[in-house]
Amino acid sequence: MFVDKAKIRLIAGNGGDGAVSFHREKFVAAGGPDGGDGGRGGDIVFKVDDHLSTLLDFRYKRKYVAQNGEAGGGNNCTGKSAPNTVIRVPRGTVVREAQSGAILADLSGDEEVVICKGGKGGFGNARFATPTRQIPRFAKTGTKGESYDVILELKLLADVGLVGFPNVGKSTLLSVISAAKPKIANYHFTTLSPVLGVVAVPGGGSFVCADIPGLIEGASKGIGLGFDFLRHVDRCRMLVHVVDISGIEGRDPVEDFDTINAELAAFSDKLAARPQLVVGNKGDIAQDTSLEDKLRDYVEQKGFQYFSISAATRKGIDPLLLKISEMLTTLPPIEVYEPDYVKPAPELGRTFTVTQVEDGFEIQAPWLARILEQSNVEDYESLQYFQRALVDSGIIDKLVEMGAKDGDTVYIDEFQFDYIV
Ligand code: GDP
Ligand code: MG
Repeated sequence: MFVDKAKIRLIAGNGGDGAVSFHREKFVAAGGPDGGDGGRGGDIVFKVDDHLSTLLDFRYKRKYVAQNGEAGGGNNCTGKSAPNTVIRVPRGTVVREAQSGAILADLSGDEEVVICKGGKGGFGNARFATPTRQIPRFAKTGTKGESYDVILELKLLADVGLVGFPNVGKSTLLSVISAAKPKIANYHFTTLSPVLGVVAVPGGGSFVCADIPGLIEGASKGIGLGFDFLRHVDRCRMLVHVVDISGIEGRDPVEDFDTINAELAAFSDKLAARPQLVVGNKGDIAQDTSLEDKLRDYVEQKGFQYFSISAATRKGIDPLLLKISEMLTTLPPIEVYEPDYVKPAPELGRTFTVTQVEDGFEIQAPWLARILEQSNVEDYESLQYFQRALVDSGIIDKLVEMGAKDGDTVYIDEFQFDYIV
């Protein structure tokens, strides 16, 4: 089965928590803090694997979770960082953030790409020792790893895309110009997956050609298989449009040519604007050459170059290949998509809102809630740290301004405190 689209969930590892610990040794009365930092959470990394040609694996496994970093320990032991989780994909896989559709990465090259960054390890209490705070009884928790729902989309990397109605001889053409072995048969839709072949050009050079199956009228609207496969022509540098000029099936080559081009245009303007060569195939069995003459006149009038071939007898193939390779030298390289995903901005500074409630005030400030979560409210030192945050951010001033009095309750997230003047 050829699968070229999949939605999966990625969760990087969380950072390990920092440790609260104090040095203990015989005959040493009060040792200093020696809680180590937590380890780094594992990243989720993507890498091209040329043994893969479809996204089939992602049909069965849809969730990828990297390991968490280990917590820090006493004696200044740093927690172990987690290994990265490496996801292998076929070359040409585009990774999009599922909600926005924005591109996170285009796996066309060989370098690994980090898609989800693992969390950082929290600082152990040894880090918080200062001359005035010699017994820090708190440590920081690790931060959460990034997590995304992503859509993987395979967009083959080919210089040339063969397009045209089913049964016109695209697969046959690819099989005679390359070592690829696409399925060939005299009925529509024999080829159920795009096939890539490397084509050697007479006199030197080569290019990669893709057989794009299943284009029919309505393909751009999802009729038949065309819709799925159109995305593979997306980044071809040029198109070779194959038309059956034999008249064997009672079709009109000019009409066929226009129908396919209309589908390409309906799918994307970019695709319609791709340089195109028109190839009339099955010249060997044409009964009535007027069909071919009509097509040639028609496309040349529109500014396309026309080539007459017979894939079956290899007639006219070499001039076609030479023309393709000549055109390719003037065309830009295969398109690689630049990431355009913008991470949502982190909350700006220490902003907060204070609302008056029945018996006091409610403070909304996610950053403060995080500090609270990470501190031990039973502990004096930890509380001091928290209180300084209240003062530094201007929350206390705001409470005073709003008329807070002794004994009022202050709510922050799931915590509540008495306001003491
Ligand atoms: P595709 O659907 O466009 O890939 O078409 P295929 O390559 O599978 O060919 C469809 C049928 O047309 C097969 O029976 C081929 O043998 C036949 N065919 C392809 N090219 C030629 C040709 O140049 N001459 C003749 N006589 N038959 C051809
Ligand atoms: Mg085919």
